[in-house]
Amino acid sequence: MIRLTLLWMLFLSFSCSAYLDELKWPKGETFLTFLEKNQLPQDIYYSLDKEEQELAAEIMAGVKYQVLRNDNKELEQVLIPIGEEVQMHIKKVNGKFIMEIEPIKLQEEEHELVINIQRSPYLDIINATNNYLLANEFAQSFKGGVNLRNLQKGDKLVLYYQQKRRLGKQFGSVKIEVSMVETGKKEHYIFYYKENYYDEKGQELDNFLLSTPVNYTRISSPFTQMRWHPVLQKYRAHLGIDYAAPVGTPVRSAGNGKVTFAGQKGGYGNVIEISHDSSYKTLYGHLNGFVKGLRSGQRVKQGQVIAYVGNTGLSTGPHLHFGLYRSNVAINPASVVKIAKSALSGKDLKIFMEYTKELKEKIQKAFDNNLPPVKEDNFDYIYPLEKS
Ligand SMILES: [Zn+2]
Repeated sequence: MIRLTLLWMLFLSFSCSAYLDELKWPKGETFLTFLEKNQLPQDIYYSLDKEEQELAAEIMAGVKYQVLRNDNKELEQVLIPIGEEVQMHIKKVNGKFIMEIEPIKLQEEEHELVINIQRSPYLDIINATNNYLLANEFAQSFKGGVNLRNLQKGDKLVLYYQQKRRLGKQFGSVKIEVSMVETGKKEHYIFYYKENYYDEKGQELDNFLLSTPVNYTRISSPFTQMRWHPVLQKYRAHLGIDYAAPVGTPVRSAGNGKVTFAGQKGGYGNVIEISHDSSYKTLYGHLNGFVKGLRSGQRVKQGQVIAYVGNTGLSTGPHLHFGLYRSNVAINPASVVKIAKSALSGKDLKIFMEYTKELKEKIQKAFDNNLPPVKEDNFDYIYPLEKS
């Protein structure tokens, strides 16, 4: 337990003396069991609307959350991050506990990293920065690009990346705007552009492609990290895509993988979770039922029927809620669900070339600056995914 920090005061403007606990959300804990354990009224959950109850099912095991207590050690406030932009804030208003969805106060940072390869890019990045998310993201971005195993001791690696910080600690996903590997006197670039990685020629690299999990009639709700609902005067987030389809429509695994969960999950009703390669996970919610014999630990193929569309949990009409997570961070499935890699051409390619010219200059500058790496001291909030 730490004495109230300036940081906390800054964003809660809580004035009297208090204690702040930073805790890790345990595996298997739900929002309701959390309320029960802390003697908080269950009404906090039941008075939420359906979107908010869905979000309560998005609390990730392993996520760090904060609890504020008064001098009598009584719970005053709780902050639980959901996705990358919003958090659940439990607080007392007029003597009554309520939960509100609020934006997370984030600091955005840009860093450069220059490395002389000693062992492997992955290990060298971790050694230099303690930043596992960065190392994972790097390995992911180079899939389908230059073979990193062929790198030699003394080869160079330069990265320019963006990350966020919440309450002084690294938070959410890392974006590597541009990376350059120099091997055998040749430079290889990878660029982050329109939510995907591309090589210098504008060819998309990420080799992880998902298929659409259901034959749908329409998309009833798109993915959104955070938006303000002007009528309800509330912040909203929807960490997946809703595909409207009749009850009983087959739901197919979006990729090869392993079933890691099949059961009930709060507002999402009947849920299947599948873990895939490269620390991706997919979630299928509101299911009517599972395919006979489906069990946790089972391997599934892309396109294999796993369940049927339903209306379970909090759902206004039959639809499939489809969520996609990378290193346990919800990302927009629309950027990954497609049939083939794309290659930029025509006007798009021209814009891309202009854009990458600037990034190459950034790499050159980083190379010349050769600044010491930014070291992270916390990377353990990520709950490691099972390898499929
Ligand atoms: Zn949904």
